[in-house]
Amino acid sequence: MTATLDNRPNAYDGAVSLRRLVKRFDERAVVDDVSIDIRAGEFFSLLGPSGCGKTTTLRMIAGFEQPDSGSVIIDDIDVTGFAPERRLCNTVFQQYALFPHLDVYHNVAFGLRFSPFSRDERSAVGKALDLVRLSGFDKRRVQQLSGGEQQRVALARAIVLEPSVLLLDEPLGALDAQLRHALQVELSTLQRELDTTFVYVTHDQEEAFTMSDRIGMMRDGRLLQVGTPEELYDEPNSVDVATFVGTANIIPARMVDTNTVEALGARFRVEGSQVVENHDRTSACTMMIRPERVHVSPDSDNVHVPSHPEGNPVQRTTTGTVERVTFSGSSLLVFVRCGGVVVTAEIPNDDSVHDVRVGETVRLGVRDDHVRVFV
Ligand code: ATP
Repeated sequence: MTATLDNRPNAYDGAVSLRRLVKRFDERAVVDDVSIDIRAGEFFSLLGPSGCGKTTTLRMIAGFEQPDSGSVIIDDIDVTGFAPERRLCNTVFQQYALFPHLDVYHNVAFGLRFSPFSRDERSAVGKALDLVRLSGFDKRRVQQLSGGEQQRVALARAIVLEPSVLLLDEPLGALDAQLRHALQVELSTLQRELDTTFVYVTHDQEEAFTMSDRIGMMRDGRLLQVGTPEELYDEPNSVDVATFVGTANIIPARMVDTNTVEALGARFRVEGSQVVENHDRTSACTMMIRPERVHVSPDSDNVHVPSHPEGNPVQRTTTGTVERVTFSGSSLLVFVRCGGVVVTAEIPNDDSVHDVRVGETVRLGVRDDHVRVFV
């Protein structure tokens, strides 16, 4: 039997499929042919710079915007034409708009009035407040709450309806860094407890990495890559993803043959999986190296490179001059000029590294398996 909203079982799965979604504003496609399969129970983030179309995508899932073409499917039901309240989704916004004249209990209970499903109000609100660690706050007025507590009330108001999909649009954006960090941990714990699909919009890479099972990276309305945080970081499919996700050295390079790439005056041997053939075959070849993969030692030393788990690492070395060193607490960033390129190395702030000085000639070491090439 085909599932419809009326004959579905109580426990919904919450799988969301976006099929070739397009949304235009003033003739400009701000969401451009986006297809994603979000798994039931997954913490999925849409990540990308401001204006790339994340919120518009989320609003199309919620039903606040209609796509110009494409469809939104939730648990095998095409909900594209459905009004928001018929989608079994709920949204938490950055501006959480609580009712100041109501106490915490009545703010959370408010949504239940419009729910098509009947629930025992007191027990549903109690359970939701318990989940966001606000038990005992029932009688408090909204003005008597901190920013973090208000955000948790907004979350409780959304989860009290037991949506199969919770949509969150930069919900921590208004909070200070410390509180943000604490709530990130709480949100991922909450998501696991609820086993609800979370679709989370953020432009903050660290936030997306901390919480998400998988991330969809967007830019200029397009979906660039979908993957786990590790996949996006270690195996980006483009220079755009490599540079948005963490810091990357992007270095001009030249393919000598299918397995050899030349850069920084050295030749690296690469596997096919390290080479990404991008859309534009005529574009210059570039090599990507993460700063923590660049090892720095005095010019006189042999570079120490940690051993490869499957055998001896093959390292390539080059020399350069230290232009700048910046301190960030747990690590140092060392900027080394190698000919026309400045390579950034991140080295741990511990006793294992030599005291790097500006103007010094140093030797840089990079393992073959730590480079990624975009052709
Ligand atoms: P941010 O992180 O800044 O919220 P975003 O990635 O969520 O950005 P969207 O809010 O989806 O981006 O906006 C994508 C583009 O569409 C932006 O250029 C925005 O100005 C434009 N846009 C969004 N809503 C409308 C609208 N109702 N009318 C016209 N243009 C719009």
